[in-house]
Amino acid sequence: APDASYRGRFAPSPTGPLHLGSLIAALASYLEARRAGGTWLVRMEDLDPPREQPGAADAILHSLEAHGLHWDETVLWQSQRSEVYLSALEQLQRSGDLFACHCSRASTDSAGNCCGECRQHTPPPPVALRVPVASQFVAHWQDRWQGDQRWPIGQQLRDFVVRRKDQLFAYQLAVVVDDAAQGITHIVRGSDLLDSTPRQLWLQSLLNAPQPDYGHLPVLTNREGQKLSKQTHAPPLQDGKAEANLRAALGYLGQPSPPPDCSGVRNLLDFALARWDPQAVPPGPTLAPR
Ligand code: GLU
Repeated sequence: APDASYRGRFAPSPTGPLHLGSLIAALASYLEARRAGGTWLVRMEDLDPPREQPGAADAILHSLEAHGLHWDETVLWQSQRSEVYLSALEQLQRSGDLFACHCSRASTDSAGNCCGECRQHTPPPPVALRVPVASQFVAHWQDRWQGDQRWPIGQQLRDFVVRRKDQLFAYQLAVVVDDAAQGITHIVRGSDLLDSTPRQLWLQSLLNAPQPDYGHLPVLTNREGQKLSKQTHAPPLQDGKAEANLRAALGYLGQPSPPPDCSGVRNLLDFALARWDPQAVPPGPTLAPR
């Protein structure tokens, strides 16, 4: 059903160029938003300079355009939003939901929890900032593709980092602040982020931010079962092969193949949009071509 209030987004991290896995996430979130008659935004999650590749952000934006995925409004760059993240941290501080922690990776447990002592005696800098998680908290949502989700994270997770020791803002904080600031109503992304969602729901409750709808797509894996990513050397997308890339992405999303004489990215996207069927998206992992 048309829903002009729908606001979706694609939020790449510029750690490398777009690959087929990220194109699939971008395409699905685009088709969902356009199909609803809503708004589709791009947000550049450039808040981790050590992990970024020079030129990747521009290359990603260029690739999106080459594939006909034109966004509405202006791109939001997380690197320019420190003040907004700081004020969210202040809000957490005021409500008593923030504490300093000096634990190294070696002193946290397997769930990444603070050793516990930092909450008794405020440690000297450098410190990370963490939010405590209520032990009875159960994250609950209806996922568009992964079904009913109930994550009693409070049983294992006592706290998590929202600002790192190196002073960088954590992804979990920035994504929640920006989804709220941009009025995002629907999040479509890869299921590699499924286990981040419970933390984001917890932060939304602490920051009085609305809980958007979530849909986690199957993650593309190679024949060895590894996620297609920069780490496993997923090949970058060639912008000159945009039509073939879109056809491949639609195939992974379980959508009908455009006829051979359908040419040009605009026509391919129009074909896909007219027939977009979210039910046809496979919920589980799918194999990438060799
Ligand atoms: N920037 C994150 C990534 O590229 C995705 C954020 C999101 O969609 O919530 O993995």
